[in-house]
Amino acid sequence: MAEELDPFKISQKQLDTAAELMKLDKAAHQILREPQRTVVVNVPVKMRDGRSRLFTGFRVLYNDARGPGKGGIRFHPQETLDTVKALSAWMTWKCSLANIPFGGAKGGVICDTKKMTPAEIESLSRGYIRAISKFIGPKIDVPAPDVYTTPQIMGWMRDEYETIVGHESPGVITGKPVELGGSEGRFDSTAMGGMYVLREAAKLQKMKLKGAKVAIQGFGNAGKFAFEIATKLAGAKVVAISDSQGGVYDPKGLDYEKLNEVKEKTGSVQNYKGASRVSNDDLLELDCDVLIPAAIENQITKENADRIKAGMVLELANGPVTPEADKILFERKILDMPDFLVNSGGVIVSYFEWVQDMEGFYWTEDDVYSKLDKIITRSFNDIIAMQQTYRKGGRMITPREAAYVIAVDRVAKAMKARGWY
Ligand code: NAD
Repeated sequence: MAEELDPFKISQKQLDTAAELMKLDKAAHQILREPQRTVVVNVPVKMRDGRSRLFTGFRVLYNDARGPGKGGIRFHPQETLDTVKALSAWMTWKCSLANIPFGGAKGGVICDTKKMTPAEIESLSRGYIRAISKFIGPKIDVPAPDVYTTPQIMGWMRDEYETIVGHESPGVITGKPVELGGSEGRFDSTAMGGMYVLREAAKLQKMKLKGAKVAIQGFGNAGKFAFEIATKLAGAKVVAISDSQGGVYDPKGLDYEKLNEVKEKTGSVQNYKGASRVSNDDLLELDCDVLIPAAIENQITKENADRIKAGMVLELANGPVTPEADKILFERKILDMPDFLVNSGGVIVSYFEWVQDMEGFYWTEDDVYSKLDKIITRSFNDIIAMQQTYRKGGRMITPREAAYVIAVDRVAKAMKARGWY
């Protein structure tokens, strides 16, 4: 992989930029450039043909100065340790920016769930938890779902962990089914949080959301609910959507219910009738008001940043914009709201789930959404205020740089108070 696309190098570069801007203490900077703990495990699973297969997995605790580690688990064929390290760093900044009492962590297993039976996936999920059980816990490190992991998988994982420790421990993992200590509103919380950011960003840009043209890359948990909320609650028009096979485009707007049906029946949104097909690359360059990358990292790079036509980029995926592209978008005055603000709704409601599990007292969906709205809107306002502070003192900084300065400062202060440097 080219160095400029290595997600961990990117996360370090972003930290370095913030460190320079805020004149971060050298010792704190050194600690924050590397994860605190990296665990690599190999998990044997009995496959349907009776043979055993070995799966490699990771769990990285990036920093726990502000609280237990927090971060999802990905099941992905191209998973790498560097990706998990980068994601764990971003989780650290995300929890800090939201000002919730968690550090950052992330996990992953190299596997292709599309080629596995439910029994094989369950066996792998349980085996992975056995392998990392000493390194997780409600007060140690709390996993959650991410790409290609589901509430059902979280349910199996909680069950396996409790079998090992010998008592109930609902707070060990979040994103569980509601029947098993999950929170109301968790399932669409990432997209809901993103839409609160969109509302605030639109106000800032004086953009009318009603009828605004939105293009979304990815039709998974994040992208699908973003589509639903953007159209049903905000009155926007989703003109393009894609999944890993490719996408569809209709300038008049796509129909959410019809698209869902097509995805369910045929496996891909590409089979939606009455719209033209568009590749994942071309989708990014479509004429629209808001572009929402909601799939994977490194989608907007120095190669295509010049051709982005959207007035606003809302990073619902983790790491979809490279640092080189960041600069280009900023120079072109395209408002790019950073991933660790936009998709923080997932971890904020995960935090609510953890609180509810620890207290054994559960909230309504309305309660969850209104608390989420307050936290994410506060973070948005913190970022805008930090940009203004720097404007007064020197060069205008990007929303991502402002978010980094806020998040890194809070973690550095917690480490200082603990006497780590
Ligand atoms: P998901 O597995 O539910 O969906 C992923 C989607 O991306 C699918 O539609 C898939 O077809 C598509 N996709 C996969 N490879 C692609 C490619 N090469 N090009 C285009 N599309 C591709 O995952 P998700 O939970 O929706 O996560 C998507 C992004 O959002 C990830 O970056 C994830 O880290 C981030 N995120 C998700 C949550 C959450 O709560 N789900 C929270 C924070 C961040």
